[in-house]
Amino acid sequence: TAPPSTVALSDHFARALPELAVPWQAEEAPAPRLLVLNEPLATELGLDAAWLAGPEGVRLLVGNHVPDGATPVAQAYAGHQFGHYSPRLGDGRALLLGETGHVDGHPRDLHLKGSGRTPFARGGDGLAAVGPMLREYVVSEAMHALGIPTTRSLAVVATGRPVHRDTLLPGAVLARVASSHLRVGSFQYARASGDVDLLRRLADHAIVRHHPAAAEADRPHLALFEGVVAAQASLVARWMLVGFVHGVMNTDNMTISGETIDYGPCAFLDAFDPATVYSSIDHGGRYAYGNQPRVAEWNLARLAETLLPLFSDDQDQAIALATEALDAFRPRYDAVWSAGMRAKLGLSADDDRADTLIAQLPTLLQAGHVDHTSFYRRLATAARGDTEPARELFLDLAAIDDWLTRWRSLGPDADAMDRVNPLYIPRNHLVEEALTAATAGDHGPLERLLAAVTAPYHERPGLERYATPAPVDFAATYQTF
Ligand code: AMP
Ligand code: MG
Ligand code: MG
Repeated sequence: TAPPSTVALSDHFARALPELAVPWQAEEAPAPRLLVLNEPLATELGLDAAWLAGPEGVRLLVGNHVPDGATPVAQAYAGHQFGHYSPRLGDGRALLLGETGHVDGHPRDLHLKGSGRTPFARGGDGLAAVGPMLREYVVSEAMHALGIPTTRSLAVVATGRPVHRDTLLPGAVLARVASSHLRVGSFQYARASGDVDLLRRLADHAIVRHHPAAAEADRPHLALFEGVVAAQASLVARWMLVGFVHGVMNTDNMTISGETIDYGPCAFLDAFDPATVYSSIDHGGRYAYGNQPRVAEWNLARLAETLLPLFSDDQDQAIALATEALDAFRPRYDAVWSAGMRAKLGLSADDDRADTLIAQLPTLLQAGHVDHTSFYRRLATAARGDTEPARELFLDLAAIDDWLTRWRSLGPDADAMDRVNPLYIPRNHLVEEALTAATAGDHGPLERLLAAVTAPYHERPGLERYATPAPVDFAATYQTF
């Protein structure tokens, strides 16, 4: 049977946690026009892509058609932004439309970004421009294709409403899909309310939704925290392996589910350098590539603080339990990262001889300003016998030759490497090119980029420019906003 021409949206969150949900509606979009629709994702959600692309579907995707039974809400949360606590952030320009189903049996949030001012908008206009919403679409779908947990993008709809930034830009709404929008900042908000019952309901809601095994533990809320620590340690290790720089790891942008969320000033590394910062507002380099594991741990400490009253009535014991749980972050991160590095180098997971080689790589890559993505992919060619494509990325040939000789003696598996080292990522110069063209009305570059990055491992003819490093002067000066 054909999927129904509607979306069944539950208001479970709004009913379970009304203190964190302000019923609200989207601003009317004067001339909604579908820019991109994720048909495979629509199918996963059991939605009819043809209906979504039609007039009523497009009105749903900008928030102007609210299905029967749905209660769109702006969600409340707090958060540390660049280390500074804000007691009231919340969805200033976003709405949770409600929860819907998925073929995997787990519910998903359907959420809009750029849908107009809400009671949390503060000084903001509540809007989003076409470029940044398409950027989230491209990068989140690339991350998904790389196998990294992430919120997904269902559609971007131009609103026909101009947005004032440095210039006038066309406005858009992103329809986002997530296993939930619960954040560290949601818990900070609940804790700061002083209402321990609210905090407990939020934690219980998160257990059911994301870490159901925690319900069986002796201390379910501690087990929830342990689950978040493990999920985030694994997530950030995956970011590091692929060279992803989130750019704004504030506690309101860190999920309880372990999905990557909030694609703002994010970017993938061009040349490898732990100090890489792309965001124009990150003056101190707090969210530099190499700082991400430390920042994640810091954010999780903030989460632990909110949960202390649920861990134990004895505060000293609560702190001891929280500290021990947080101490699991490093080993978990190291394990995922080490296993990932061995896989990237085509070596088996239990080969300890890989450790020295792995430890020597950052210095070599950094000294040569080597393109992160190209290096690992070309290494597979080296494993097949032709070291030249990898070697030519370096300046100090004696050093890389020595490294390559020792690595090849371990018998790396080239085919296995091609399954974990992407060829096509959303390279910064290609993202900018696609967004500029799309903002001017030409969707060709965006569609070609999406086609490349949503099948990142499989080499195809005609896509050479998607696998080529950025021009050096571009990479050296690139900034995101
Ligand atoms: P972000 O840096 O994207 O995580 O956003 C931080 C906070 O600013 C959140 O509370 C957002 O809802 C809010 N915000 C960001 N941009 C806007 C905007 N244009 N209008 C209203 N609120 C915004
Ligand atoms: Mg955010
Ligand atoms: Mg944002």
